[in-house]
Amino acid sequence: MLPENLSRADLEQYAQIPLAERPGLPAGVTAKNILEKTRYGVELSRDEIFGFIKGFTYGDIPDYQAAVLLDRILLKGITPRETFDLTLAMAASGEILNLDEFGIVTDKHSSGGVGDKTTLVVAPLVAACGLNVGKMSGRGLGHTGGTLDKLESIPGFRVDLNTYEFKSQLAETGIVVTGQTGELAPADGKLYALRDVTDTIDSIPLIAASIMSKKIASGANHLVLDVKVGEGAFMKTLEDARELAQTMVDIGKAFGIKIEAEISDMSQPLGNAVGNAIEVLEAVNTLQRHGPPDLHQHCIDTAARIVLLAGKAKNMMQAHKEVLKAILDGSALEKFREMVIAQGGDGNVVDNPKNVLKIAKYWPIFFQGNSGYVHQVNPMDVGLTAMKLGAGRQKKGDPIDHSVGVAVYAKVGDKLENDQFIGAVYTNNQQAAMEAVVSIRDAFTIGVEEIEPPPLIHEVIF
Ligand code: URA
Repeated sequence: MLPENLSRADLEQYAQIPLAERPGLPAGVTAKNILEKTRYGVELSRDEIFGFIKGFTYGDIPDYQAAVLLDRILLKGITPRETFDLTLAMAASGEILNLDEFGIVTDKHSSGGVGDKTTLVVAPLVAACGLNVGKMSGRGLGHTGGTLDKLESIPGFRVDLNTYEFKSQLAETGIVVTGQTGELAPADGKLYALRDVTDTIDSIPLIAASIMSKKIASGANHLVLDVKVGEGAFMKTLEDARELAQTMVDIGKAFGIKIEAEISDMSQPLGNAVGNAIEVLEAVNTLQRHGPPDLHQHCIDTAARIVLLAGKAKNMMQAHKEVLKAILDGSALEKFREMVIAQGGDGNVVDNPKNVLKIAKYWPIFFQGNSGYVHQVNPMDVGLTAMKLGAGRQKKGDPIDHSVGVAVYAKVGDKLENDQFIGAVYTNNQQAAMEAVVSIRDAFTIGVEEIEPPPLIHEVIF
């Protein structure tokens, strides 16, 4: 029997038991019984959830039974208590990192979007304000990009640090952005792969448990979530984004993590660049104070929120001041260089990004049509165009080309005239370039009425 108030120490202890030796389902309960219960909406106990996740991770419970459970959760939902236990069970399916020796460790996590390179800017900004940033990031899938892929476009940059290297770098530089160390939440890896092929991705409890299990396992104690909403995000409506954000905030709080969630706009790509090397270039430009205004503002706001949450400022105004100072005095840029060098990358990416990063041939895009206002830049179309060029992967494990991508320079609310420059395609393949130019033009909806740009951050959930 697991204790009622499961603490971090209890969970760490449980995670140390070899998988084979952990208790499975309670005596007399089978996987089929669990499915029967969920069919009739009977709440599962903590022991049943932990037993099911152990059995699935270990291989005792087959994919077809887990797939039924995922589908039931998607269609019928589960209680907040069950979501919490599912999250803890998934977190404890692998190593739980203990970062107590570092005191406050901050982290941010985005639910995924198009052109979202905020981690590359926010992490050095926060570290330059004197806070530890210990972050484990993911890879891109489908139309969304991943921080690890972007970082790997810097020659030599390692994203495979082990736990010892992760902690040593955190102690020395106060900033680490890497892939998962060791076996972090392996249940999530297995379940995510199954969700991907059984059309069970877009369930709020499943997304919340997936994200928060990794956050709990990776050890940070101060976390700002960036829940994206809009056409290019998992959550298409503000209502769903709110529910996802609140679910994750409640899980974090119940586990003693200081946590807040921003609901930010993904009705159009963030910044201009969508690709890997070109997004690193844009992040470096932003740290050098000449990035796109929307990306700059979003990064300043998110970094300030982390600084405030971690107690380095008394209010949001002071937090903004701290963060702006770090960008103006160049200390955030130097933190980025420090991180790149510590992880084996070429630090010259800060001084000469265009020489260090491999970027494919440039093809400009011009708007053709009657003048009007940009009403939409469909982020799904832009993300999928970049993916087709090779910047992203259709399925897990596909190879990617770091040098390719697209850029969009016109944003919702901008006025356009015929023949105006609106974007670019980066590829060495002429045929692919011509097709991508057409797709990017088609991603734009132009209307005659003036329109307000959407807010960058819709609301904040505490
Ligand atoms: N990101 C995750 O890590 N998991 C999900 O389920 C969705 C987005």
